[in-house]
Amino acid sequence: MTITHWIDGKPVEAGKSTLPVTSPWDGKTFGEVCLADEATREAAITSARSAFAFWSKLSVKDRVQPLFRFKSLAESRMTELAESVSRESGKTVAEARAGVEKGLECVEFACSLPQLLTGEILEVSRGVDCHTRRFPLGVVAGITPFNFPAMVPLWMFPLAIACGNTFILKPSEQVPCTSLLLAELLAEAGLPVGVFNVVQGNRETVEALLDDSRIAAAAFVGSTPVAKAVFERGMLAGKRTLALGGAKNHLIVVPDADPTLTAKNIVASATGCAGQRCMAASVLIAVGDCDAILAAVATEMKTIIPGQNMGGIISEVAQQRILGYLDRAEASGARLVVDGRKNLPASGYFVGPTLIDNVAPGSPWAWDEIFGPVLTVLRVATLDEALAIESASPYGNACSVFTTSGAVARYVEEHASSGMIGVNIGVPVPREPFSFGGWNDSRFGQGDITGKDGIAFWTKLKKTTTKWSTGAAKNWMS
Ligand code: NAD
Repeated sequence: MTITHWIDGKPVEAGKSTLPVTSPWDGKTFGEVCLADEATREAAITSARSAFAFWSKLSVKDRVQPLFRFKSLAESRMTELAESVSRESGKTVAEARAGVEKGLECVEFACSLPQLLTGEILEVSRGVDCHTRRFPLGVVAGITPFNFPAMVPLWMFPLAIACGNTFILKPSEQVPCTSLLLAELLAEAGLPVGVFNVVQGNRETVEALLDDSRIAAAAFVGSTPVAKAVFERGMLAGKRTLALGGAKNHLIVVPDADPTLTAKNIVASATGCAGQRCMAASVLIAVGDCDAILAAVATEMKTIIPGQNMGGIISEVAQQRILGYLDRAEASGARLVVDGRKNLPASGYFVGPTLIDNVAPGSPWAWDEIFGPVLTVLRVATLDEALAIESASPYGNACSVFTTSGAVARYVEEHASSGMIGVNIGVPVPREPFSFGGWNDSRFGQGDITGKDGIAFWTKLKKTTTKWSTGAAKNWMS
């Protein structure tokens, strides 16, 4: 199967080379994705530029109509979307479906843009009014990671196009298929040709899009080193750029936490999507004696079986990287209370849920983004020690606290150095209209990627000051 681009309203097979695309479920290659060359990029940019000329002139009410239809169509073809996400990313179908549904919340938000894109007006001096209006930027780009083939693009393009921009999506070359399904659904929903394009490719394509002065803005989601490089390159090219990076999320547990709720939440967070989520639990910091809760976490983890109720790891390289961390942790004297190297399915790329205890803060498994179903336990005596560990991490996506005390929860909420906080919630992704975005090295650039910040990112503000002669008060209408 050849996996194409989507340019000017249709699938386009173009480019000088291809890459194999493999399913984590069985390790088998099921397609070859075309990699864009200069002519491919040129075709996409030309199509998006010509669409911008009329799309940006439509009223916002007209621009959201195809998005209403897109949402209904996506819901009616949810099984197909979820199966596509599952096949290419290795998520279970249920996880894949949840990701698509979360993405469709962003479509709902974009559909409400006629109520949100209103400007402000004030009489700033007697007879003098100032008002504001938001305008689209032009052709814009979105560059997305492997782990949410539908949801992360849906964070970006519905709002960007509702704001009047035209869009070029560059999906991860590891998961190129779902973007084409989204393109098909948008076309069926009546989105005009050229408003949404997909250009497949890897680093070379990303760099060419960032360098192209005809692209006004770029949003990126991926790992921290690439996010930083993309942010710097985009800004250097004079582009509005927002780049979300990786994470190492800490969960702080205190002895008064509800053991059952806590264990279930923590394990779901650490092992959901096989730990390949930027919001996944990665370090559990036990404050004081939490042994009963830790035992419940280990018991709960043993109910998660790779290949059955847990999906796969994106590639063999990623699988081996994660297993390498486990081997080195064990060799360093850490204890694998639950060992994800055992009883793996015979084919496909899997790592089982893993709980590592006896770990020193700052060791690689407590510090690096492992991006697999691995939870590291640290033990401390006080909440301040836990918060010092959390704040020392270079990342800052999420921090959760598990407690039945409001005062403890409030203290963590106030002092944690992360953009998204959970109280008794393992994956504290804000629901729309609350915006998504981390702090520190989990985000480069201004503002969050969804919600009202998203509207600001995809538009530019015009301020108009108006004064009419008072002598003209009586006109032909009076
Ligand atoms: P990645 O950084 O390897 O790739 C992301 C995108 O960048 C892909 O489209 C890829 O083709 C492109 N790319 C890769 N290397 C590049 C380079 N050198 N220059 C330019 N472009 C390049 O990330 P990934 O492995 O696909 O995704 C996993 C990472 O994404 C994890 O670190 C995860 O935490 C992060 N992530 C973050 C968020 C968030 O909201 N902060 C959400 C999802 C995933």
